Amino acid sequence: MNDIFQYIDTHRDRFIDELCTFLRQPSISAQGVGMTECAELVRRLMSEVGIQARLVPTPGFPVAYGEVPSPGARRTVLIYGHYDVQPPEPLEAWETPPFEPSIRNGRIYARGAGDNKGQMFAHLKAIEAVLGTRGKLPVNVKFCFEGEEEIASKNLPAFVSAHRKLLAADVVYASDGPMHPSGPLVYFGCRGILYLELTAHGARRDLHSGLYGGVAPAPAVRLAQALASLWTSRGKVAVGGFYDRVRRPSVADRSVLGAIPFDERSVRDDLGCLPVTGAGAYYWRLLLQPNLNVAGLTSGYQGPGMKTIIPHVAHAKLDARLVMDQDPDEIEEKIRAHLKRREFGDIEVKRLGAVPPSRTPVDHPLGKAVVRAVEQAWGRRPVIVPNLGGTIPDYLFTQVLGLPSIWVPYAPHDEANHAPNESITLEGFVNGIRSTAAALFELAAT
Ligand SMILES: [Zn+2]
Repeated sequence: MNDIFQYIDTHRDRFIDELCTFLRQPSISAQGVGMTECAELVRRLMSEVGIQARLVPTPGFPVAYGEVPSPGARRTVLIYGHYDVQPPEPLEAWETPPFEPSIRNGRIYARGAGDNKGQMFAHLKAIEAVLGTRGKLPVNVKFCFEGEEEIASKNLPAFVSAHRKLLAADVVYASDGPMHPSGPLVYFGCRGILYLELTAHGARRDLHSGLYGGVAPAPAVRLAQALASLWTSRGKVAVGGFYDRVRRPSVADRSVLGAIPFDERSVRDDLGCLPVTGAGAYYWRLLLQPNLNVAGLTSGYQGPGMKTIIPHVAHAKLDARLVMDQDPDEIEEKIRAHLKRREFGDIEVKRLGAVPPSRTPVDHPLGKAVVRAVEQAWGRRPVIVPNLGGTIPDYLFTQVLGLPSIWVPYAPHDEANHAPNESITLEGFVNGIRSTAAALFELAAT
């Protein structure tokens, strides 16, 4: 890999300049700002490094699709990323404007620097570096860069289902999310999510609590009781069958879990309180166990002083983080059945969203190949985690396309994604280019 790493060193400053050009182009999917221009720029940036690229329209923003065929290669790697970014607001909190990239403290600051343009662009420069030194890639590579990740990948499921042939590959390689605080990270999937809204209804309007208290229905109380019924007093989810399909950690999962560095002090400093798990169970609970959470709870009067009413309605938002092999549809059914059984059948349940969990085994041979590549790129072993606690559309690759998928983030743990002063370190960007390049060779050889 030395010739390729040398090429990356020689062209490092130009790569950084080009990334800044990419970052200067707004692409705020939530607001529809700059999307057409950015999609076209992505297509051009792909073409410039030798990728056969085109924009594939969707009912929303286009997917930038590309291929670099490598005659004689026996493997195909599908690389995923996204070119859309989060809205930059609040603008006054940025030290330098979000779409005017600024280099300081060894980082590039701009909206999208970490999430996901800097990481996505590293893949393109890896292709340039390998083609520039060797003339061909060791594997066939396909690219799927979507423009709607920040708006829940609205059209990606339909795109993937409709283009199975186009996306046919042996493995998915992707870079999104932050690295571990201690350095490089490799992960193999994510928890899923089921998001529900619960509503308790009472009278047709808010009522005087003196004139009607004791005779009118009290939806706030009713909803609180229903919510309380969802957990045992020790904090386990009390919904019948909720844990039925939770997969027992494999031997490989357990050994990977035990090796994740855990610093209780820094967790405590971050949270301002101790985690509820204790050190031993922290990652097991965060990554391999499901969780049911109240994300919002509203009813009645919350302004200053007293207002004596019986609110006529109460709302709660629930998010369930799901692990393998839980199924969002089944969990929703179980929550509905639980409420009926506990005589809360009057509480309205509405689904706001769902994404299934997704996992590739941590001891998958292609995963080990990627770990070796990241080690070459960084000169140190990455932290390996079985999956993210959060949710990404990984099931489209593992369950719809049936491929193993391996994720290697290039942004720092404090990239401030979705927040003001987002950044990527120059080291993370450059080692990201090295990681992608090395991964193509390790995947080819495995
Ligand atoms: Zn994001």
